Amino acid sequence: MSSKLSILYPLLIMLIFLVSCESAHFNDNKVIAHRGAWKSNDLPQNSLASLEKAIELGCEGTEFDVWMTKDSVLVVNHDADFEGMEIEHHNYQELLSKHHSNGEKLPTVEEYLLAGMEQSKTKLVFEIKPSKLGVERSQFIAEKSLEMVNALNAEKWVDFITFSYEAGLKIINLDSNSRVAYLKGDKTPAELSEAGFFGFDYNIKVLRNNPEWIKEAQDLALTINAWTVNKEEDMIWLLENNVDFITTDEPEKLLALIQKEAR
Ligand code: MG
Repeated sequence: MSSKLSILYPLLIMLIFLVSCESAHFNDNKVIAHRGAWKSNDLPQNSLASLEKAIELGCEGTEFDVWMTKDSVLVVNHDADFEGMEIEHHNYQELLSKHHSNGEKLPTVEEYLLAGMEQSKTKLVFEIKPSKLGVERSQFIAEKSLEMVNALNAEKWVDFITFSYEAGLKIINLDSNSRVAYLKGDKTPAELSEAGFFGFDYNIKVLRNNPEWIKEAQDLALTINAWTVNKEEDMIWLLENNVDFITTDEPEKLLALIQKEAR
């Protein structure tokens, strides 16, 4: 091998490696499991087991909710309390005294992201819960969430969603490449686009009441997601309108419906 080629060869290998990494992509079926795939399997919501199940089903994404403990540990849980203990008023170690019904402890966000990053077909939809301690705490949680995602190199997997407009803006302002969708339903597509949001994730009732927002969002290249869509008629309406994602407690039902429509 000439000396020129011997220099180029490792570079070529590296290029092929990078291209193959880039070509890995998520399932393209719009199905987002709400708090993981827990319902049909009777698993605790937001547990690692429900995350694994959503991945096993082949969902495009799986959603989970994030709070911060008193000692600033990010944890995954839907409610403000874990088995009766207020998360924001307890240290992480104290919260370990309680367990999910399947025996799991309260997962940290770090554990949850690392488990989700063992694959690259199902994205991780990271909901930052608004703090009950005020807007500043919500913004702090947003900042710490982004830091965690960056530290784990989880950017490719993570889409952020939040009801806290301020927390969403915090992430957008810290990292203009981050993907943040807004949940509350009180902003128009134009307002979200102007503020730098990636899209919206609105209650199905909000979209039914403002169907023109779908076209407006599509024209602005915003992503459209709806929660929590468990009725078949709503699933069909959203599919007909070609929204990007549909968040459901019943991912099996939506996956079956999409397969049926494709036939
Ligand atoms: Mg949620």
